[in-house]
Amino acid sequence: MRAVELIMQKRDGQPLGPAHIRDLIAAYARGDVPDYQMSALAMAVYFRGLEPAELAAWTDAMLRSGEVLDLGHIPGPKVDKHSTGGVGDKISLPLAPLAAACGLRVPMISGRGLGHTGGTLDKLESIPGFRTDLPVERFVELVADDAMRVGLIGQTEEIAPADKRLYALRDVTGTVESIPLIASSIMSKKLAEGIDGLVLDVKVGSGAFMKTRDDARRLAETMVGIGTRMGCKTVALLTDMSQPLGRMVGNALEVRESLDVLRGGGPADVRALTLRLAIEMLMLAGRPEAEARALAERTLDGGAALKRFRAIVEAQGGDPAAIDDPDAHLARAPEVEPFVAPKAGYVTAIGTARVGLAAMCLGAGRARTDDTIDPAVGLEVCARLGDRVEAGQPLVQIHHRARGLADCTAHLARAWQIGPEPPEDRPLVIERIG
Ligand code: URA
Repeated sequence: MRAVELIMQKRDGQPLGPAHIRDLIAAYARGDVPDYQMSALAMAVYFRGLEPAELAAWTDAMLRSGEVLDLGHIPGPKVDKHSTGGVGDKISLPLAPLAAACGLRVPMISGRGLGHTGGTLDKLESIPGFRTDLPVERFVELVADDAMRVGLIGQTEEIAPADKRLYALRDVTGTVESIPLIASSIMSKKLAEGIDGLVLDVKVGSGAFMKTRDDARRLAETMVGIGTRMGCKTVALLTDMSQPLGRMVGNALEVRESLDVLRGGGPADVRALTLRLAIEMLMLAGRPEAEARALAERTLDGGAALKRFRAIVEAQGGDPAAIDDPDAHLARAPEVEPFVAPKAGYVTAIGTARVGLAAMCLGAGRARTDDTIDPAVGLEVCARLGDRVEAGQPLVQIHHRARGLADCTAHLARAWQIGPEPPEDRPLVIERIG
């Protein structure tokens, strides 16, 4: 069937057959279907959606457009976590070594930050020497090594190339915000890791892709449906992103905070979410919840997770001195200055995406994919939702190099809302799906 007939079929609300979807996406990945036809189809999907069978075929076709890792020779459950992204979300840094030190295999392929959201790769690369571009064979060796069990790399050119092309196209054709297209995009990349289990952290709130609980739930259910249908045990947590996670936003600052968590301290929300996601990963691998909790807490508090993180850093070319003495070896911004509360009251809301944009203006993030990151700069959040503040009290400490300071403070000025009453408490984990 010609591409135009499939576009018309979808436009008119008729489901597409799996073979047609497979052929079309394969042709798109080869360059045989032009972007203008794929844009029209993406828009038709945006309005008409995809039925479960279409979604499975679509995801499968994207997955098969590139390399699918075969980890079948590695014994034990291979489990990963994926977050839909937010501000201050450094959870992968303590979680990956924690899950590995609990005995799981963790083949983690992560992304970079863009716009208001940060990315795990940028955070890891703020550790001097750390390489996230290891060859896939070395990554598989690390996951197979019983003393390591974890590798942390970036998306390769070979993984789901159809998604890479389609995501870039969606970005410029107003078709990013489609639940089936987001779900198939994320799941095709994750399933290409050759995992048996996946925990999805679907963020909800002012710093997340999904602003409402209903949208987040629909995305989570769609991704859990795809994973389950494709033989990967998948569970999703909807978690709060109505304020930054933890206190630090910015790459080296977030590494420091992750090290605090690995040393048994750190902010309560970062520690709690790290443990909760580790428990979910262990449960997917068959551990009962109480046993998983005891194991995860013991592994974190006893220092085994920190030791594993140090080992990963060394194995991936990073300087372990940065783990032992972060103050001396991680980048630090030359200037720190406060951004203060304009009046007294309670913090009633935080425009979290603006906090991410404020950090981006300093150089902690990217406006465009080819922007470079400054690992040292970022924000230290001093006033969280519900906190009482006085006029002139710091809401944020800005770690900067003078670059972008005016734009940063303009975002911050619009991010914090202060009122006479504290807001209602929000749970960190809102819902579990799967
Ligand atoms: N992240 C992805 O990988 N794909 C999307 O479509 C949206 C977010």
